[in-house]
Amino acid sequence: MEFVKNEQKILKFWEENKIFEKLRQKIKGKKPWSFLDGPITANNPMGVHHAWGRTYKDLFQRYKAMQGFDLRFQNGFDCQGLWVEVEVEKELGFKNKKDIEKYGIEKFVNKCKERVFKYSKIQTEQSIRLGQWMDWENSYYTMSDENNYAIWHFLKKCKEKGLLYKGRDSVPWCPRCGTAISQHEILTEEYKEITHKAVFFKLPVSGEKNTFFLVWTTTPWTLPGNVALAVHPEFEYVMVKSKVKSQNSKFQVKSQNESGEKYILLKEKVDEVFGKGNYEVIKTIMGKELKGFEYEGLFDELEAVAGVLNSYKHKVILWKEVTEEEGTGIVHIASGGGREDFQLSKEHKLPVIDLTDGDSNYGEGFGELTGKFAGSDEVRTWIFKNLEEKRKVFKIEDYKHRYPTCWRCKSELIFRLVEEWYIAMDKLRKPLMQTAKKIKWIPSFGLERELDWLKNMQDWLISKKRYWGLALPIYECKKCSNFEVIGSRKELGEKAVEGWEEFEGKSPHRPWVDKVKIKCSKCGEIISRIPDVGTPWLDAGIVPFSTINEENKSSINRSELRGEMPSYFRDKKYWKKWFPADFVCESFPGQFKNWFYVLLVQSQVLEGKEPFCTLFGYSTVVDEKGEEMHKSKGNAIWFNEAVEKIGADVMRWMYVKQNPVSNLRFGYNVARETKRKILTLLNCYTFFETYFSKNSELKTPTFAEASLDRQKLKLQLKTKSLLDKWIVSRLNRLIKRVTGNLDKFDAARASGAIEDFFIEDLSLWYIRRSRQRFQNPESEEEREKAASVLYYVLLNLAKLIAPMLPFLAEEVYQKLKADKMPSSIHLYDWPKAEKKAIDEKLEEQMAQVRNIVSLALAKRTELGLRVRQPLASLKINEKNVTKSHDREKTLQIKNEPELLTLIKEEVNVKNIVFDEKVKEEVELDIKLTPELKEEGYVREIIRHIQDLRKKAGLIPRDRVIIYYASSEELNKLIAKNKKQIIEQTKSKLAKENPKRKGEFLQQKQIKIENENLWLAISPS
Ligand SMILES: [Zn+2]
Ligand SMILES: [Zn+2]
Repeated sequence: MEFVKNEQKILKFWEENKIFEKLRQKIKGKKPWSFLDGPITANNPMGVHHAWGRTYKDLFQRYKAMQGFDLRFQNGFDCQGLWVEVEVEKELGFKNKKDIEKYGIEKFVNKCKERVFKYSKIQTEQSIRLGQWMDWENSYYTMSDENNYAIWHFLKKCKEKGLLYKGRDSVPWCPRCGTAISQHEILTEEYKEITHKAVFFKLPVSGEKNTFFLVWTTTPWTLPGNVALAVHPEFEYVMVKSKVKSQNSKFQVKSQNESGEKYILLKEKVDEVFGKGNYEVIKTIMGKELKGFEYEGLFDELEAVAGVLNSYKHKVILWKEVTEEEGTGIVHIASGGGREDFQLSKEHKLPVIDLTDGDSNYGEGFGELTGKFAGSDEVRTWIFKNLEEKRKVFKIEDYKHRYPTCWRCKSELIFRLVEEWYIAMDKLRKPLMQTAKKIKWIPSFGLERELDWLKNMQDWLISKKRYWGLALPIYECKKCSNFEVIGSRKELGEKAVEGWEEFEGKSPHRPWVDKVKIKCSKCGEIISRIPDVGTPWLDAGIVPFSTINEENKSSINRSELRGEMPSYFRDKKYWKKWFPADFVCESFPGQFKNWFYVLLVQSQVLEGKEPFCTLFGYSTVVDEKGEEMHKSKGNAIWFNEAVEKIGADVMRWMYVKQNPVSNLRFGYNVARETKRKILTLLNCYTFFETYFSKNSELKTPTFAEASLDRQKLKLQLKTKSLLDKWIVSRLNRLIKRVTGNLDKFDAARASGAIEDFFIEDLSLWYIRRSRQRFQNPESEEEREKAASVLYYVLLNLAKLIAPMLPFLAEEVYQKLKADKMPSSIHLYDWPKAEKKAIDEKLEEQMAQVRNIVSLALAKRTELGLRVRQPLASLKINEKNVTKSHDREKTLQIKNEPELLTLIKEEVNVKNIVFDEKVKEEVELDIKLTPELKEEGYVREIIRHIQDLRKKAGLIPRDRVIIYYASSEELNKLIAKNKKQIIEQTKSKLAKENPKRKGEFLQQKQIKIENENLWLAISPS
């Protein structure tokens, strides 16, 4: 079975027959079910991790559509931001922002747009290949006018509510990208194990001879920014006298730990820092007693430092966040070099020394450091040398720690003092937490994670000093420091005093929008937009407001729609039909502080309401060994490679079967195992097809419709076969189970139940036990009855798998389909469980039968008896069997001859005896009479003939002639059982070998009880 080739065929079938359009017609105007797509970054081809989420999205949308809900089927592309910029920079060979400016912002921004179009097209094709049904023509793009203008509206609302402000803060900064990285963009995985050189240095205590505070840092570049030292008020510190002579450190900088000098540090740390016996304690001091102690700074001679410090004296402050874990318990505070440092400087009114510029180079007034990159080895070496000259080095050592890096380019982040724009979060914190509680989070720990984030979040940094992104509509007056926020394109047009003509017809991006100037409403000065762009999370968080439109029309690339706004701004009634979304579905690592979070914030500000009712989160895709996939590691698997190798349905089955809380291990070994299971499912359909091919009398509309008709179904259930009734009961239970689980968005349980059904119930039991009725039925009527039941089961099973395995479902349906039936399985309604068809008692009985069978077969294996050898009897101890089944019910099969026959046939015994004296659950009578032996041989011969037929690729209806040659004894046995052999193998028997070897379809030499037997077949 070539999954890949068949899937291509089915894609073509769907397209040519407009199946998706027909589905949309079918559900149009029905009760809405609103799915909101989290946009995929249109920046690269898809990996296998993308396909996981897209499979869920497709599954639940298809499911809801089959249930008769109306859906928008809108896909989203995330377009703006640093991720795209960085890739374009790579493409163009750029090193930093200066290269972009030289190249020209307009050309650069156009390149970014081009890249988005290129990859959104590729991702669309890939998603279609996965079998995802979306209204691809009308995907939303976050770079569209309406998306950008909707954010303008949001920001204006923030301003009106007093939430928007410009703040000066020390923020994590990427020196390469030249932009601040906001708190929620630094995920756990952005912290890398890095070894830095840590320095212990000496700061002379003012007015005390030869006495130093001993301090430690891993960021020596921040030392010129030192303004204070922090100690914990409740910790014990000591003053010690050193007994160690100075020694050379391995970093070519001399250690200047001089014997006789006095040092102050945390008591806990003395042994670790000095080594036992290398010091003498002079006195113990509580941290709080150190408050206000003054000391001499390290770089006070630098112009930039002296200028800020003025008459300020370096001093010790108290801080409860000081820990005993690292360093000396005395923390170096550089107000411009760290977030907490900056906070403390505000609290304690400390001066703030601004160290670096946008490229993280030292600014003016830092002597030899000016213009040098703060993170460079050169700077580090210079500072160590300088400290040595000043005799301030205590020791230098390697220090391994987890250090934040840029999520885009992996550069180490360096804290920097900048002016950025923020949305204040304190006022929103409580309402957001209340809103989060109204949402159903799946898995439920999602709520705790979200609340935890909301509790700890800081103000939202929304500005980026970059090029490709939302143009923040903030106009700042340099003269009177007033700032204004523009809420729409219309408003900008009305307030424009300059540059509108140049902007007309353009998207609201840099550099075009920057041409427009307005007048300061306070002082009348002509003012410009700030050059910053917005964080792309603003783009993704606004989508509930910017993407809902009557015709799903997207303004992307349609200049005639420039400035026309989506339903939220024109037709609230229509918008409310789809808001809040019923369902969102994304991979959760990271999203609690990203997409889920920004959706909550933007919806809170605009509507005071939850943006979605149910959230379904899933984990991450890793490789087969459980390791993270990375391009650089060589273990990443691209979507195209996987789908052309194993097919979309196999991938989808891997995804839906996965428990979404755990990481999904993706690899080709797992795929092989999955494929094997799907083949079992396919074989059930092939079995039916084998006996009822296209030409079969049963493939008429009457038959097909009959099995669809409920009335007829009941008639069929009146048939005597308990096996039939049982599979119908199991199927209806399955329908109930799958529906219940999909209603809870539990795809793993739903698909698990389906798999159990088609392997355990359908393939291993129903079809196996029905084989005889298909191959050698008692009557045509009996065969037709069995066929109707199997047809009913297979058709409904196809409906159940349709949302999960859309290709396979279509493929098998096309073989079941008769005239007048819907042209595609995907146009069926979701099946409803027939309560009356579910028969508890029968299911329990069959479970008991199967339990006995498995006990008896285990016995056979234990005794080394081939199943093909008939035995006289199986003895059953009723009590023991009931116990072993771990059910409280009593054995209910004694009076059901059909069920007992099932056991007899399956275990291959002539009789069943209920006997209390049997020691275990079951016992086999292993005495072989000549008759039993003979029967065993005949069965053996039949099996070999069937095997020859199979090898020759024959179908059941093909008739053959069997040739055989053997000893007198065996010849007699075959002749005696001729009738049975002929019947069961659809053949004629010919004793002699009239043909030369090689003229047979198949032949083989076998041994029956040590006697040779030659068998061959040729067409009849
Ligand atoms: Zn970067
Ligand atoms: Zn002004």
